[in-house]
Amino acid sequence: MSTPELFDTHAHLHFPDFVDDLPAVLERARAAGVARLLTIGTDVATSEAAIALAAREAGVWASVGIHPHDAAEADDAALAVIERLAGSPRVVAIGEIGLDFFRNLSPRETQERTLRWLLALARRVGKPVLIHCRDAHAETLAILDDGHVGEVGGIMHCFSGDVAIARRCLDLGLTISLAGPVTYPNARALPEVARFVPADRLVVETDCPYLPPQGHRGQRNEPAYLVITAARVAELRGETLDAMAARLSANACGLLGIP
Ligand SMILES: [Zn+2]
Ligand SMILES: [Zn+2]
Repeated sequence: MSTPELFDTHAHLHFPDFVDDLPAVLERARAAGVARLLTIGTDVATSEAAIALAAREAGVWASVGIHPHDAAEADDAALAVIERLAGSPRVVAIGEIGLDFFRNLSPRETQERTLRWLLALARRVGKPVLIHCRDAHAETLAILDDGHVGEVGGIMHCFSGDVAIARRCLDLGLTISLAGPVTYPNARALPEVARFVPADRLVVETDCPYLPPQGHRGQRNEPAYLVITAARVAELRGETLDAMAARLSANACGLLGIP
């Protein structure tokens, strides 16, 4: 049996969850075909950690950003650091950034102001955005539209909307990323979304250590499990896993500017 060629477009490998066994986690990822990974910053400290990891691990790239949960902590000094980090050679995207009106850990106005600022930064440095959006699709898409997100493109990470929302994201020039929830028995609109998104606008991710796919729920998620999510998406689309995985990896490389 051949191994699919996968790109985990959203992982938090530098989080404390992996501190004890990251080499083994990466070995299992590579054995499962996950040759490339993007490790995602959520504040200044984790953005710096993401860059440090990408600098020492082949096949790992970094993104820098302020998660909406952390927006309240991000003062001007923090944003200035993110701007400086955004120019690092292994940084291929600005994220994760966005709005989360489900948990509302930062005030909404602060989340919105931070998202606008970081989207403008992405346009200044010419790198795509990685968008976290929970219970805030209308507000997020309005800000992305207003901020001309199409000029840099980006990924709607862990997409949680329906086909109508997916269509609006595609119209803005965004790519859709499916994560573990597409494998759940209660996947709601996600199977339909998996069938709907055009082949050149789709990627997959783990969001590890969060959101493990079916069969690993309740455990720590890790990149090797991406194959479960990818296999489910391929099944829903009526494609072979190998062909679909290769194309999704090419989509990610093209968007992120990875050769
Ligand atoms: Zn997120
Ligand atoms: Zn994340």
